[in-house]
Amino acid sequence: MNEEIVSSPDKREAYKVLSVWPPQKCHYCDRLTTVVHIDPAFLPDFQPKCALHGLARCPYLNETVEEREAELESVRRFVLWMHAETGRVPLVARMSEVKEIPGYEEPDMEEGEENDEIGWATRYEAPDGVRIDSYVASDYDRFFLYEHGALREQRQIEQVA
Ligand SMILES: [Zn+2]
Repeated sequence: MNEEIVSSPDKREAYKVLSVWPPQKCHYCDRLTTVVHIDPAFLPDFQPKCALHGLARCPYLNETVEEREAELESVRRFVLWMHAETGRVPLVARMSEVKEIPGYEEPDMEEGEENDEIGWATRYEAPDGVRIDSYVASDYDRFFLYEHGALREQRQIEQVA
């Protein structure tokens, strides 16, 4: 008996990003979050993700428009979070080459390992209207913010939930 191939585009189970209440503990850290990623490919398949660990990256190549928008939204959420949830991020675009980020620091890699980090170019606008070019890299587990040609290690504030 032939088994049907279940990976056809319209049969795959949707990757979902949901809002939940009450807030849940992040899958990776102790921060509370109302954003949850759901995918049958995850173990567990229900994973709360804070802004730092919240990359909404569809694991399938044939991502939908909604999934791609969720990815950009998760980058936007991270940039705002780094700026203490103030201002806005009017522009986010995926970069073809993460190494084009000004000041980009390559991760430590074993010999023979490839750097598979991905990056986005964004524009951040502060509440006073000042705009800066912000860049975001991710190793899929967490985000990194680059501004003014350097990696920013700290948030403006760390909110305790
Ligand atoms: Zn987290």
